[in-house]
Formats: sequence, C-alpha cells, structure tokens
Amino acid sequence: MSSPAETGVLPGHPFVHLRGQDLFAEEVSLAGLAAEHGTPLFVYSKAAMLAALAAYQRGFAGRDAQICYAMKANSSLGVLQVFAQAGCGFDIVSGGELDRVLAAGGTAAKVIFSGVGKTPREMRRALEVGIGCFNVESEAELHVLSRVAQELGVSAKVSIRVNPNVDPKTHPYISTGLKDNKFGVAHEETLRVYQLAASLHGLKVVGIDCHIGSQITQLTPYLDAMDRVLDLVDAIEAAGIALQHIDFGGGLGIDYQGDTPPAADALWAQLLAKIDARGHGGKKLMIEPGRSLVGNAGLCLTEVLYVKPGEQKNFCIVDAAMNDLPRPAMYQAFHRIVPVSAPSPLAPSARYDVVGPICESGDWIGRDRALQVQGGEVLAVLSAGAYCMSMSSNYNTRGRAAELLVDGAVVHVIRERESTADQMRQERLVRA
Ligand SMILES: *Cc1c(COP(=O)(O)O)cnc(C)c1O
Repeated sequence: MSSPAETGVLPGHPFVHLRGQDLFAEEVSLAGLAAEHGTPLFVYSKAAMLAALAAYQRGFAGRDAQICYAMKANSSLGVLQVFAQAGCGFDIVSGGELDRVLAAGGTAAKVIFSGVGKTPREMRRALEVGIGCFNVESEAELHVLSRVAQELGVSAKVSIRVNPNVDPKTHPYISTGLKDNKFGVAHEETLRVYQLAASLHGLKVVGIDCHIGSQITQLTPYLDAMDRVLDLVDAIEAAGIALQHIDFGGGLGIDYQGDTPPAADALWAQLLAKIDARGHGGKKLMIEPGRSLVGNAGLCLTEVLYVKPGEQKNFCIVDAAMNDLPRPAMYQAFHRIVPVSAPSPLAPSARYDVVGPICESGDWIGRDRALQVQGGEVLAVLSAGAYCMSMSSNYNTRGRAAELLVDGAVVHVIRERESTADQMRQERLVRA
C-alpha cells in the first residue's frame, strides 16, 4: 500500500484527509491522538457515521421506515449514543445488547431482537421494557416466546425470519441466507410457521424479516431476496395473516480493498421500485444495517514495535493484535494499513507481513504490504469501525484498546484503555 502522501486520498474514508504530510480525522491529527492517548487506539468519526446513516435516510425519504442499527457491529456506548440521538432504533442479538441500548439512551420501542438462541430470561426482560419486535427464527422459539408472554400477561410482537435461499456472494462465515445455514425458517416452511404464530396465544404477528449475509457488494442478491420475500408476503397475506412491516435486514458491504458496493440510497431506490411495483409500498420498512454504518467511520492506530527482516519474509511487528482486530485471523479479511505521518527517510522500504505480538501464527493484520517503516512510527489500520472492538478479547491478557469519538475538533474518550486490574476484577484465588 502506497502512503496516503503519494495517493492523496484514503479510499472509503471521507473523514480522513491529509494536511501537509499528516493524516487527520475530521479536524484532529492522528499522530497527535496516538501520542496523547497511546496505542492501540480506535478512532471514530461522528460525521462519518452520520453521513453513512444519511445515505439510508435519503433512500427512505417520504416513506414509513425505521433504521435499526445492528449494534453487534460496534456496541460501544458512545457509538450507540450517536445513533440513538439520530433517531435510530437498534437490532439486538442478546440481553446484554438490550442493556447497552438502554444505557446509551435508546428507545426500547424501536428495538428489534434477532438471533437463533434467545433465552426465556432474555425474552422476559425484552417484554418487560417493551421492545418493538422479536425476529423469531424457529418454531420452537415461537412456543417459548408464547409461553413467556402469557406468563407476563402481555402480547409479543413477532416477525418470522425467513431464509430466502439466495447466495449473497460473500465469505461463507458471513453468509446467512442459504439453505444450510442455522438462520431463519426455510422458504417452504414459512407459511406453516406463520399459521402457527398466528394461532399461539401471547403473540401478535406484525412483520416478516430476512438477512442474507454480510459485506454484500452486489445488487443482484438483494433484488433476488426481495422478490422471494415478497412472494412469501403474498402467500402469507393470502392465507389471511396481515403483515405491517417488511424488515430486510442488513449486510451492505463497505470498501475494504477496492470493493464497490452500491450506495445505500441507490440500492433502496431499486428495492423500493420493486416493492412498489408489487403493491407493497404501503408497508412500513425496517432495515438492520451494521457494518455499512460504522465500518469506514473507524480506524485503529497502532505503533510499530519492531521491524524484523527475514529470509522469506519481513515482519513489521505492531502493538495491535488479533485480540483487537480479529477479522484477518477469523475471515482472512483485508484492512488497508497506512502510515499517519511521512515516513522517516532512514526507514527501509520493503514488503512486510504486519503482525501483532500474540503467540499465534494466525495473529496477522496485513500480509505482504509495501511499507516504509521503522520502530516508533504509527500506522492506521483502516475500515476498523465494525466487527473489531465488538469482537475483541483479552487473549494473552491484553487489555482492550481505548476508543475515541472525534466530532470536528472535539475529541471524546468513549472507552478508557482496559487495565490488568479491570481484567482480573471478576476472578478469585482459591482459599487455602
Ligand atoms: C449481523 C446482522 C445484521 C447486520 O449485518 P451487517 O452486515 O453488519 O450490516 C443485521 N441483521 C442480523 C439479523 C444480523 O445478524
């Protein structure tokens, strides 16, 4: 990867720009942030999040629509607060995520609860605070939700997650809409499951939902999935079960490595045209975008610890690792890596595997990257706003990184660096 000083732009990152030789996030120098707050350090741009949200809002202008941020992409409270204040709802997948929404000032009525393994305890809590809808993924779950709702004397609003069996043409681990996935109800069984849901006490059928995968960069899977969902809507309504909303999930990709996903507003212009043409334009629309709202609004600053030349390979050892940035190890994912300042003219220029300090060969962040670096320099790992901090761990007893939210020239610390004492707080020595 050539330095931004050569190319002048950071693809996919409209909020990051060069001033002289230095990279800035909005009005703030990244080198300055690393010096002040230490590394590894996540830096998010509020403007970039709101710009990503605005693309969806433009797409839904004049429609009855609800954008529910799929918070598993990045569930830090300061990030949730940005979306809550912008009027978003939230797509949650656990009771813990519900607690976070409420702590960040989100509205329970705008929460939808997805996931194949909701526990009765999680259902009860969600009903007590009055969430908007349960996206139910199996018959067995319908029975349990019906029982829990009746015990509380309330009615649970439900939508059934259907599996449209289209190939999203993405990594197998993040493809969720194919037949052999654990997610959703098979296309052929949908009508029967809706009839069951309509017959059970304590449930009120309100919608239908699907989510076909993640990091989708092509239009066709979305258009195909919408057709299949609308076929089901027709069949369900023909059976006398009215649906108020269509929830089309998330999954829109971002530019990690020259990827060219459709823009959210352009995608929805096409999907809405289809919905209208098939006579369902009056229904409320819901979506659950995660990655596309935050992925390119964040980056991770990391300091080069050592440069280690080798016979086969050169290694650039940095202070961020797979516990901070798990995507390369988990999915062989690509993140662009760029220096935040002009490289020292003394630094050797070479191709490097950029790796972390963790004792695993899988601990790499980038492979075969052209870099001019030496110890002490700071690199930015781009596209690190989604599925990084929220998937981070303490492996090797590494504290989680700090997180900053940049808003113009103002910097908010939204997560302090985790100490070893923080990590050990719940542990107990055995008494002799
Ligand atoms: C993960 C997930 C999303 C968000 O996916 P992105 O690819 O981040 O947009 C939405 N809905 C459900 C049910 C999910 O599991």
